[in-house]
Amino acid sequence: MTTYDNTLNADGALIVGAGLAGLFCALKLAPRPVTVISPKPLGFGASSAWAQGGVAAAIGAGDSSHAHAIDTEIAGAGIVDEAVAESVTAEAKARIEDLARWGTPFDRNAAGEFQLGREAAHSKNRIVRVEGDRAGYAIMQAMIARVRETPSIRVVEGLTVVDLARADGRIIGVFARKLGDRYGEPVFIRARATILAAGGLGGLYAVTTNPPGVRGHAMGMAARAGAVIGDPEFVQFHPTAIATGADPAPLATEALRGEGAILVNDLGERFMPPIHPDAELAPRDIVARANFRQIKSGRKVFLDTRKALGARILTAFPTVAKYCADAGIDPVNGMIPVTPAAHYHMGGVKVDETGRTSLPGLWVCGEASCTGLHGANRLASNSLLEAIVYGARIAADISGLEPVRANMAPFPGIAWDQKEGEAAEEQLRNLDAVQDLRHVMTDLVGVERNADELKDALRRIAHLERTGRGVTRAFLNMTSSATLVAAGALKREESRGGHFRTDFPDTSETWAHHTEMTLDEALALRASLSGG
Ligand SMILES: Cc1cc2nc3c(=O)[nH]c(=O)nc-3n(C[C@H](O)[C@H](O)[C@H](O)COP(=O)(O)OP(=O)(O)OC[C@H]3O[C@@H](n4cnc5c(N)ncnc54)[C@H](O)[C@@H]3O)c2cc1C
Repeated sequence: MTTYDNTLNADGALIVGAGLAGLFCALKLAPRPVTVISPKPLGFGASSAWAQGGVAAAIGAGDSSHAHAIDTEIAGAGIVDEAVAESVTAEAKARIEDLARWGTPFDRNAAGEFQLGREAAHSKNRIVRVEGDRAGYAIMQAMIARVRETPSIRVVEGLTVVDLARADGRIIGVFARKLGDRYGEPVFIRARATILAAGGLGGLYAVTTNPPGVRGHAMGMAARAGAVIGDPEFVQFHPTAIATGADPAPLATEALRGEGAILVNDLGERFMPPIHPDAELAPRDIVARANFRQIKSGRKVFLDTRKALGARILTAFPTVAKYCADAGIDPVNGMIPVTPAAHYHMGGVKVDETGRTSLPGLWVCGEASCTGLHGANRLASNSLLEAIVYGARIAADISGLEPVRANMAPFPGIAWDQKEGEAAEEQLRNLDAVQDLRHVMTDLVGVERNADELKDALRRIAHLERTGRGVTRAFLNMTSSATLVAAGALKREESRGGHFRTDFPDTSETWAHHTEMTLDEALALRASLSGG
């Protein structure tokens, strides 16, 4: 057995990441012992808490999980795994009931039924919501309260995982550091089952809606350990992040357009109707590209909610109203400046229907995974659904491995320290190499791509890896993810869903399939470019 100086024992399963995927999996595992690692206090640092729309579930009258699956497949532009879409949508109702049973205060009508909202590309009203646009926050608050009172769940706040530990071809735990301790000896945490639920990679981009810590660490560390990655090239750009220059960019939810808000440029022209019959409610990638092209041609883009919502925006969309107020924008009498921003990663660590990866001992759920549900483009509000469905499936898959034991003692000497944590985060945020990497991704691997820019991106990522000041394992996780996205985008010589190549603008039948790639393959492609 491998031994390390600085070792802790998870006494059971270990979950890396405390967004909805991680917390839901932990709750489903109870009363089996599990340790959950979160770099920040629960509720902070996770995209889940920022979700505004809600969770998609075909639970309304006249709706069916099959209809939901079909909408998912259409949005996914020809490469959604049909069996996955059918099974995930069929499980939605049961998982929403779990969320409700565990205390989520979903919006309901007078008869006590779920009040269902509508989002783009859904053929029915099927988004369960909380207080308009506060779904993510409310769901997370309910799950956190439940986790805190579950004695079989040990929560460790203030640790960041930098590597997976591998022995004899199996993942046996992780290496973790205190947030901000970039060079110290990491602690090895041994686990019988390791579940990676550390989110997506929006923060690899300079313009993103994701929290600062969600920067491709999960996919990067799994890829460095040898895991097969699925569909890395497919990144979803949200068309309407609020353009205030803030990092991350706050989101103006798609539900605003669902309520009739329109997009106009600074000449007052409404530009979506000539582009798509559904105008502002066209698929996300089409609206994002339209906004991108307006901005590239020197125009500014605004979301005009005045006629559709008027003063109702203040009560119906309190989160957006607050973001506007913070930025000095008055959405009742004026318009909201918007820009496309990296929002969601359809690709990730490839998993089967139980969340197992190509590496024994490693399961992945949530945005870090690639299940085949989203294909080339995620249908709105399907990601929280995927997080809870696979969180539950993983718990069921590993339950047999774990003894039932009720109480987990805290790890000695590890606790979140607010001052230290915030200082460390600020320091990480400002690292030159990280900022350079994020600009490479936004400028060269963004909404529109072409071979020359993608090759340039790969060379620059290689250069940053070689020369970046303060290159650490955490940074290598980021550059590994960035390399996979750019390499996948370079290889896919067509346009489909979230991936648009100006040099291959058409969709090609020969590419109507998923991408599978290892980091070694992506690095070989990178090395084959002169100067790479
Ligand atoms: C602004 C916004 C609005 C959205 N709205 C919706 C919506 O309405 N409906 C919908 O379905 N989806 C929505 N999404 C997408 C959805 O929120 C995410 O896909 C989903 O929450 C991902 O959940 P997760 O648990 O996988 O990851 P996250 O919730 O991002 O959690 C990741 C966790 O991993 C931790 N972590 C990261 N790196 C490490 C590391 N190295 N070591 C240890 N821990 C680490 C993070 O701190 C965090 O705790 C939205 C996303 C954003 C950003």
